[in-house]
Amino acid sequence: MQQNQAALFVPIPCPRCGELCKVSSSTGDPRFMKRATKPSPKAMCATCAVTAFIKSVETFHHGIELNGVQMFLNPMVQEQFGKLLQGFGDATPGEIDWQRLVDNWELPVPGERGFGK
Ligand SMILES: [Zn+2]
Repeated sequence: MQQNQAALFVPIPCPRCGELCKVSSSTGDPRFMKRATKPSPKAMCATCAVTAFIKSVETFHHGIELNGVQMFLNPMVQEQFGKLLQGFGDATPGEIDWQRLVDNWELPVPGERGFGK
């Protein structure tokens, strides 16, 4: 199935944070955070996708409770997560805006009450 290349570069607002983002083609078949090839109410920007991923993995909750979400501003934490995320999804570490991740942490992710409001 061939996508219309021009359409891929139309920025669409992220349904969670409103940041303009682009749809693109997936580089493979990642387990999480597959790139959206067309706009969708659930196609979020990379930063929000990472947030949703982190929130969905219970293993991370304890560390966040202990250190606060500010822990993601620590470059060492960012590096560890960057490596981890590359193994899981299409997002590259450079696409993640960690400051925004922290700032928008409380915004609901898909599946949470109030998402997309
Ligand atoms: Zn977003």
